Amino acid sequence: MPEPGEFVVTPYEVHGKIDYDRLREQFGTEEVTSQVLARIHHLAGGELHPLLARGVYYSHRDLPALLDGYANGRPFFLYSGRGPSGPLHLSHLLQFDLCAWFQRRLGVPMYLQITDDEKFWARGGLTREETAQWGLENLYDILSLGFDPKRTHTFFDSRSIAALYPLAIRVARKITFSNVKAVFGFTPSTNIGLVFYTALQSVPCFWPSWAEGRAVPCLVPCGIDQDPHFRLTRDIAEGLGYPKPALLHSQMVPGLLGEGVMSTTGGRTDDALYLNDPPPVVERKLRAAFTGGRATVEEQRRLGATPEVCSIWALWKTRFADTEAKFQEITRTCRSGELLCGDCKGELIERVHKFYEQHAVARDKAKSWAESTIVTSAPKSI
Ligand code: SF4
Repeated sequence: MPEPGEFVVTPYEVHGKIDYDRLREQFGTEEVTSQVLARIHHLAGGELHPLLARGVYYSHRDLPALLDGYANGRPFFLYSGRGPSGPLHLSHLLQFDLCAWFQRRLGVPMYLQITDDEKFWARGGLTREETAQWGLENLYDILSLGFDPKRTHTFFDSRSIAALYPLAIRVARKITFSNVKAVFGFTPSTNIGLVFYTALQSVPCFWPSWAEGRAVPCLVPCGIDQDPHFRLTRDIAEGLGYPKPALLHSQMVPGLLGEGVMSTTGGRTDDALYLNDPPPVVERKLRAAFTGGRATVEEQRRLGATPEVCSIWALWKTRFADTEAKFQEITRTCRSGELLCGDCKGELIERVHKFYEQHAVARDKAKSWAESTIVTSAPKSI
């Protein structure tokens, strides 16, 4: 564990209180500046997704060049993925929300990877059937966030291997065991499935270029913890004759227990809201959630609360304040003491219930077209 004030962020481990600016400096990425945001705002027809406007996506690699290309008639595609080991929770939605928005505003294709193979290799307690079934369940949830059936393509690893493998062969030759050991912390006892999986996870970044026989730029919205993985992908891109994927990194959503980023690892199921949590469970978890409030009502009225440390405020910020005015109002009245935590939680609970109801309807619809997005064959054999 890190010392107090220190933190560890890797693709397989996140601990401590993260200083995101310092992390960006450590990783050597670029800041999402107001100029970059203005460019996206312009290209998106005068709109900015709240996750961009509120600084949740705060870091990037090569984003301006990708945007310049788009403005000059060179569209890009989006790539994101999910390792299906159980139901999705709210922090999993960050990257898919942004992808769906980019797709809607810019009309670009989306490539989604469901890594049911990787979760089987990584999680000893899950059977093949379970990871495949969670893959489908997760796919329905993701597609229902607003993706366009005609522009969305899914690599469901165990079912799409014929589409992925010809390119994976070439990718795998560029990656050594030393590379993946350094990035993922593999040891001699790591199973060889996980070692090869690194190649499979890189393939979608190059697949459209390979399929179309021309350089198609790729944008990967992801948590900043995934940057080391994609550094590896970027390092091998040019050797394969493909563009380096551009990255757009988010901060992570804090957990409801107030002990770091939202994660249910180690059985801490109350740290997150799952999309399949029934209403009473949603209410129980949110009522018990860690806040930035004071010990008494009188103190809070007098001194105000601290939104930046509050897990409830983080949910308003990342999903449930649908307008900037609402988000500013929550933040201001929290800080001034006008808003009390019980009332704030009550209002959020209502919004979460409403979102879950709408999501269930959208999910039912997505089930009818999810299969049609799964890519099963390669465009060519080499
Ligand atoms: S008023 Fe709301 S946002 Fe502010 S600390 Fe309390 S629960 Fe968090």
